[in-house]
Amino acid sequence: MTFEYAPALESRAIVSIAPSYGLFINGEFVDPTSGTMFKTINPATEEVLAEISEANQSDVNAAVNSARRAFERTWSVMSGRDRAKYLFRIARLLQERAREFAVLETLDNGKPIRESRDIDVPLAAAHFFYYAGWADKLEHAGLGPNPQALGVAGQIIPWNFPLLMLAWKIAPALACGNTVVLKPAETTSLTALLFAEVCQQADLPPGVVNIITGAGDTGQMIVEHDGINKIAFTGSTDVGKSIQRALAGTNKKLTLELGGKAANIIFDDAPIDQAVEGIVDGIFFNQGHVCCAGSRLLLQESIAEETIEALKRRLQTLRLGDPLDKNTDIGAINSREQLNKIHQLIKSGDDEGAERWTAPCEIPEKGWWCAPTVFTNVTAAHRIAREEIFGPVLSVLTFRTADEAVEKANNTPFGLSAGIWTEKGSRILWMANQLRAGVIWANTFNRFDPTSPFGGYKESGFGREGGIQGLGAYLQSATDSDVHAKGMS
Ligand code: NAP
Ligand code: MG
Repeated sequence: MTFEYAPALESRAIVSIAPSYGLFINGEFVDPTSGTMFKTINPATEEVLAEISEANQSDVNAAVNSARRAFERTWSVMSGRDRAKYLFRIARLLQERAREFAVLETLDNGKPIRESRDIDVPLAAAHFFYYAGWADKLEHAGLGPNPQALGVAGQIIPWNFPLLMLAWKIAPALACGNTVVLKPAETTSLTALLFAEVCQQADLPPGVVNIITGAGDTGQMIVEHDGINKIAFTGSTDVGKSIQRALAGTNKKLTLELGGKAANIIFDDAPIDQAVEGIVDGIFFNQGHVCCAGSRLLLQESIAEETIEALKRRLQTLRLGDPLDKNTDIGAINSREQLNKIHQLIKSGDDEGAERWTAPCEIPEKGWWCAPTVFTNVTAAHRIAREEIFGPVLSVLTFRTADEAVEKANNTPFGLSAGIWTEKGSRILWMANQLRAGVIWANTFNRFDPTSPFGGYKESGFGREGGIQGLGAYLQSATDSDVHAKGMS
């Protein structure tokens, strides 16, 4: 017998979206000097939500100048204890306004409300709480006796976790005494602009946080601006490389969080039902728009067939549709452009001879959607085994021995994350030592915690965000301060 869930729609009445938004510079919303606006769209309905300002060079200059003034006059001279008070206040406001943020994130991004409500927003608040706790204890972080802020940080973030990526960037920067100019992704600016309101509500001194919106060109202006001391970028490997080239030979510090193609490795002694849940979380969470997604499933040959059957059964129960419905598991793809990219890679899988299975979902008429897709008979040479798809598409490979699993898992230009499923603790430790990945999960996947550092190897970037390590990215290292002290910088 099959039965249907009754719709359980989250109300959008809690959110009021303005028809248009200015840039948040020096504590106020101002019109862009360009006068140019672009639209942000709800990817589940294709409805225009609001008009967003495009920042040009003179807006970027104003934002950087405002951040510089705030750094010199207020934020860097304030005690860590006082900075902490502001950060705690922001964290509490994010909790108080959690429902508003969750609904707005779901409207602008397309992700299921269950995820924005239970993961994105609580984790964003947790980041502010965690780094608020560090603001007056920096001398105990193991980074020298009197660690100093870098100055003005330029921060550029992608569209997959808009508010959460903002929190990963802003919380540690502010805790360490830096001021920031942040640019959200073009398709998902709304929660960053609501966060600007939270900064006002928290009475954060003007200029400590500046949020400027726009496309890649605006991002590039931030990267190239002389008044910036550090760039923190999360996004694609191609743009990351171009930023690294632009910064070569300058004094600006850089951290890059880029793409991934993680292996999720299941051994024959793993609890298969739990592993299936981990596979689903690994690649279908957030429609697969996750840099550390477990997009390559490596199954030990003896359990491959049984696991694929169990996985397909489980995928038939996933519900795709209205992201505001609390029963929804799979939301909308954030943009038509991203959907096209996913379709192109799915087609390459077909063309190169992999075997495709697609979950039987009804696709809504409006909006951008992609049903959960699993490719079997995949070889390491296929594009779907090598390139980041950034969508709900899983490529399944098999292995016989642990050595072969390691070799296959590491056979990628990326190195962001990996998953290991086995009952044997010794095997987990051995595997973790062999895998070239920044984050390794054992018998779980896609778990995040502000106390734990996150970051990659190879083309997944460098630098760590989260944890004590995340402080290091926003403080002068001992050698930098020596250089400063000797006036050699
Ligand atoms: P993207 O195209 O690289 O964009 C990222 C951000 O950079 C956006 O704000 C974008 O603005 C801006 N940008 C574009 N061109 C730029 C340029 N030349 N100079 C400076 N900024 C520029 O990446 P995306 O497609 O939005 O995001 C998906 C990628 O992010 C995936 O590859 C994913 O793996 C990666 N990601 C990595 C992590 C991690 O922690 N490692 C986390 C999440 C996502 P516009 O939006 O206006 O183009
Ligand atoms: Mg949008």
